[in-house]
Amino acid sequence: MNSTSTQLAGIGVSPGIASGPVEWLAPPPVVPHDLAPAGDPEAEARIAGEAVAATADDLEARSSSLVGPSADVLAAQAMMARDPVLGDRIAELAGEGLAAAVAVAMAFDEFREQLAAAGGYMAERAADLADIRNRAVARLLGVPMPGVPDLDYPFVLLAGDLSPADTVNLDPAHVLAIVTEHGGPTSHTAIISKSLGLPAVVGCAGVRALATGTIVMVDGAEGVVIVDPAAALVNERLGRLAARRAALTGVSGPGRTSDGMPVQLLINLGRERDLGVVAAADAEGVGLYRTEFLFLERHDAPTVEEQRVAYSEVFHAFAGRKVVVRTLDAGADKPLRFVTQPDEPNPALGVRGLRTSRLFPDLLDGQLRAIARAASGSGTDVWVMAPMVSTAGEAAAFAAQAHSHGVPVAGAMIEVPAAALQASAVAAACDFLSLGTNDLAQYTFAADRMAGELADLLDPWQPALLELIRLTADAGRASGRPVGVCGEAASDPLLALVLVGFGVTSLSMATTSLPEVRLALSQHSLAECQALAAMALRAPDGKAGRETVRTASAKV
Ligand code: PEP
Ligand code: MG
Repeated sequence: MNSTSTQLAGIGVSPGIASGPVEWLAPPPVVPHDLAPAGDPEAEARIAGEAVAATADDLEARSSSLVGPSADVLAAQAMMARDPVLGDRIAELAGEGLAAAVAVAMAFDEFREQLAAAGGYMAERAADLADIRNRAVARLLGVPMPGVPDLDYPFVLLAGDLSPADTVNLDPAHVLAIVTEHGGPTSHTAIISKSLGLPAVVGCAGVRALATGTIVMVDGAEGVVIVDPAAALVNERLGRLAARRAALTGVSGPGRTSDGMPVQLLINLGRERDLGVVAAADAEGVGLYRTEFLFLERHDAPTVEEQRVAYSEVFHAFAGRKVVVRTLDAGADKPLRFVTQPDEPNPALGVRGLRTSRLFPDLLDGQLRAIARAASGSGTDVWVMAPMVSTAGEAAAFAAQAHSHGVPVAGAMIEVPAAALQASAVAAACDFLSLGTNDLAQYTFAADRMAGELADLLDPWQPALLELIRLTADAGRASGRPVGVCGEAASDPLLALVLVGFGVTSLSMATTSLPEVRLALSQHSLAECQALAAMALRAPDGKAGRETVRTASAKV
């Protein structure tokens, strides 16, 4: 570090080193209620109209640069912005003497309330109006557009936290690294940054003080942000990273322990910009295909045919390998406009995951039909699994439905403690189990996975979580069913040894995590993994468990 540099501590969730100026994810603009008009009412009405029209132009331009659902959503938003009734109301309010920004905000808010009150499809459009409002108001107030800054130079993105929706326009060519003030190891920031291969640090409270343009170095493995780093330090860390990456290329191919016990190494797939690049990774297939990304940012569900085309593309890219498709996991942290109940008091405990099919049975049925059609003749070993399974009955019903559509291998995700406690019955009811340790940690510790301040409870090394994993792995072994891990726990090379020690048969993670996990497995025998697993389980807490295993694994 340089004598003037400061080090800010957080939680490293995606390894890598990057250095550059910081830019903040812009929040929605706040309109001062007492904002005085700058000109006469006619002038205010004109500039208000111009700001809304420019917002519509911008949305149209962005829409034409994209394809698929995102383009449709932006085009529909542009049309809403050009609604003449809305335009008249803005002019009327400005004519009454309100400042342009206040008139725009007020007119949009009125329309939004009317839509929300109308319910159903109309209510779902309310969020779109809020987005257009915020863009037009930001333009009038001269503050940054809400969301990821659209800049033509690379920067380190800072945010309070990131939701999947915030990252729709995130261009990895311009974002060097991500640092958030909140969020824990299983937050979406962690998942998104790993899948994009961007270094990331979450739960880094100190970044709040950083002004736009400050130069930082982000070390995603160490979980630190160095403010104003010396060039020599950046070069030294980049050099170390390059040397480590070169060492990792020495081990390749299917995962196995040093004594030859196979452990499938698989990829977690989400919103992929370049499927070809991901499919070229040295992996035995996909262990978690998060299909909800096909459904996000849409006004309604994609048709069976649209889904078939999307799934076929993935199956084609992984032909000859295994692809585990997770059926729609909507709700809580992944709300969908046309599915999620807006008034759920406690969404994480509400109608989410597989439970969505209680209210919308056609959605699951259509998805399974599309998966079966895409799988047919693809040459891919297609499996399906349901998220948020709570009982053996749910697992059995899901498996029966999948089998009836012609998908022969159907499993249950173990993300709810009830399902882990009943893992033998759940395993007997379907064909395989996959541990979603992100949600399993959240529900075991009653700790919101988005809450960075609860990161110690969400730590996947917590012995209580490991106990549930052990139970599930035991149940899988006893019933002859494979048990995978597809939560973020699988991507920690040390914890991967522990999971294998419990009897987990596959590990699924971001492509960027595969080499470290493969190397760690190749250096330890199954018996050593079992010994490390027993140590982690006996530890008083997650931190102690990790340290004990780190020390012991270095000796073996
Ligand atoms: C999990 O909960 O661990 C999981 C893999 O699912 P998601 O992170 O998509 O909820
Ligand atoms: Mg989950």
